[in-house]
Amino acid sequence: MNRIIGRREAVVEDKPGVTRDRVTYEAEWAGRRFKVVDTGGWEQDVLGIDASVAAQAEYAIDAADAVVFVVDAKVGATDTDEAVVRLLRKAGKPVVLCANKVDGPSGEADAAYLWSLGLGEPHPVSALHGRGTGDMLDQVLEVLPEAPAQTFGTAVGGPRRVALIGRPNVGKSSLLNKVAGEERVVVNELAGTTRDPVDEMIELGGKTWKFVDTAGIRKRVHLQQGADYYASLRTAAAVEKAEVAVVLIDAAESISVQDQRIVTMAVEAGRALVLAFNKWDTLDEERRYYLEREIETELGQVAWAPRVNVSARTGRHMEKLVPAIETALEGWETRVPTGRLNAFLGELVAAHPHPVRGGKQPRILFGTQAGTRPPRFVLFASGFIEAGYRRFIERRLREEFGFEGTPIHISVRVRE
Ligand code: GDP
Repeated sequence: MNRIIGRREAVVEDKPGVTRDRVTYEAEWAGRRFKVVDTGGWEQDVLGIDASVAAQAEYAIDAADAVVFVVDAKVGATDTDEAVVRLLRKAGKPVVLCANKVDGPSGEADAAYLWSLGLGEPHPVSALHGRGTGDMLDQVLEVLPEAPAQTFGTAVGGPRRVALIGRPNVGKSSLLNKVAGEERVVVNELAGTTRDPVDEMIELGGKTWKFVDTAGIRKRVHLQQGADYYASLRTAAAVEKAEVAVVLIDAAESISVQDQRIVTMAVEAGRALVLAFNKWDTLDEERRYYLEREIETELGQVAWAPRVNVSARTGRHMEKLVPAIETALEGWETRVPTGRLNAFLGELVAAHPHPVRGGKQPRILFGTQAGTRPPRFVLFASGFIEAGYRRFIERRLREEFGFEGTPIHISVRVRE
């Protein structure tokens, strides 16, 4: 992982099963950018190889456009490796076979043995010394599709993709059953589209929505070791595939760090966001009071997200879910014309100039919205713009243009 992402920050010291926030990393090779889903840090648990390997690999493969399968060339193919190979065959995604620990020419013969796996040419690599990693990455780029198969951002038409996420027991499967049960579940495939078997088409509010990765919600695999890590991998995979994330939070319990992590995951992935507070039927007045305070302090950074208070048990406010999702998607796709943006920025900068620093006053000269889904702005400035001022601009942008339910990115370029 460190070799691919080109940093030392990854995971070499982690113990298997330790919760990690991050399971995807940005990487770049030969001018192409891609994301690497980390499935490291695993250990076979008491349930046996098949259960743990299958569960781990299933989600990782599902989230990916291509798979780098790493085998210890010194050890050779193990039963576990064979089990993964069977999964890879079934999945049908492109695979690059990486024969690791080939630290010198004498190890090449070990690598050659891995032809026996039937995955094509083994690429000898030494992650430790960096040997061969460039060739392997060239191969990865070769098999990687030009655009992600499960496009986020670029796909047009088709049902909108929703990820229903949240920590265990908040009521995800209850909610899904409620919405899928009361309304018709669309079983037939739309013409010309292939449907991922773990996604579910659900008709809600007169439209069809694709709830991604629902198999993971329904199957409820519980692994002892690495259960947290496994849950975050699954969440990351679902978020990756979705356009909008509905984060379900148990309103009866205190908002936890885990809830916040899940929210952060969706925001960092640049997805539209809806917060749904579930189990509303169990709340008394006191809890409602404290919940509001908690939301302010613990989820203040996403105060822009539309919020619904629901009960999967009673069906309370289920009908508010779709409008909230639609609002968030609308914010996510909003484009501000350059003229309007600059009129706004001009007034803003005149009324609230950046503080003077070292005798200089950096100024925002002009800006443009470089993209949507989520909205991205590039501002050109005459000097370094402080974080506080950037936050101020973001706040004012939201006040002026809405952007309800969407993160927005602002980057500043300094013009000399
Ligand atoms: P998941 O792990 O997020 O899929 O959560 P589940 O859907 O399995 O729900 C966990 C528990 O919370 C179950 O016992 C549900 O019956 C209960 N539950 C889910 N939604 C509600 C709700 O709206 N109200 C109440 N009172 N209980 C709920």
